[in-house]
Amino acid sequence: MKLVRTKRALRDQLLPARAAGRSVGLVPTMGYLHDGHLSLLRAARDRCELVVMTSFVNPAQFRSDEDLASYPRDEERDAGLAATAGVDLLYAPPTSEVYADGHATSVIVDGITEVLCGDPGRRGTEHFRGVTTVVAKLFNTVQPDVAFFGQKDAQQAIVIERMVRDLDFPVEIVVMPTIREQDGLAMSSRNSHLSPDERRRATALNQALEAVRERAEGGGSDLRAALAAGRSVLSRAGIEPEYLEARDATDLSPIESFNGRAVLVAVAAPVGPTRLIDNLVIVPRPLAPASGASWQPSQRAAAQPAARAKERR
Ligand code: AMP
Repeated sequence: MKLVRTKRALRDQLLPARAAGRSVGLVPTMGYLHDGHLSLLRAARDRCELVVMTSFVNPAQFRSDEDLASYPRDEERDAGLAATAGVDLLYAPPTSEVYADGHATSVIVDGITEVLCGDPGRRGTEHFRGVTTVVAKLFNTVQPDVAFFGQKDAQQAIVIERMVRDLDFPVEIVVMPTIREQDGLAMSSRNSHLSPDERRRATALNQALEAVRERAEGGGSDLRAALAAGRSVLSRAGIEPEYLEARDATDLSPIESFNGRAVLVAVAAPVGPTRLIDNLVIVPRPLAPASGASWQPSQRAAAQPAARAKERR
């Protein structure tokens, strides 16, 4: 594996592969790797002839300097894990390499960035502007054939798919299932900030989502009651969510009931000082079929692109 710090070096390294017509896979990360990242790297290794991983803690997507400064980092360990996972090129640029003096251009995806995490009272649309701008820059620098993202950040994946479609980036987006700890907690670099007590309570996020899923799969179409069940799971763990919402899984539009379409149930909540997010996609049946079965597992695999693969449970 080769570690490069500049766009120039990255392009030089990519040149022979490109000239030989080899397929290039990209896995963008902010480092501090865990099994979620590794699953993306493995998928890229399986699918592409040359695998590029980027490791860049992007200041443009953080709301506060404090959150940015405390984001966990361990480049040496990441390099070892990336090499073992079969990464060919690790691009870990300094901020000045990504944002030159006078940087003034952004990519903005409207609408779907204004809800859930993008709500002005939460991380705000600026967060997604930071994400889309840096991902667009990485697409231009690496020019991958395929780029791999995680369902863990479902809204981010939906926003990137929309950007790619709207701006005609010649790249295929693959969204991989959320990788979880044994007790259901979605893996996240931020989990390393949790105290033992917070770590225990953090499992309530996944449990709340599962409580919503249980209601929906039980044939209930009452969205409000299902979400209330999820909220009481959080409340029992002493967690006050930023949001626990159900939205159309394709375009994040509001929904009034489980209506037979893929529904994204997403949660964001502070656990102590650490903000965590999680989500799942459910497709309840609108009416009970003659057989009495209210749920077909295969329906979930047919959900919208960001949820194409089944989650590990
Ligand atoms: P991050 O380093 O947190 O920006 O994440 C880099 C990529 O890994 C993003 O596409 C994330 O959605 C993905 N990712 C993060 N956590 C997980 C997880 N638990 N399972 C699957 N993918 C993940």
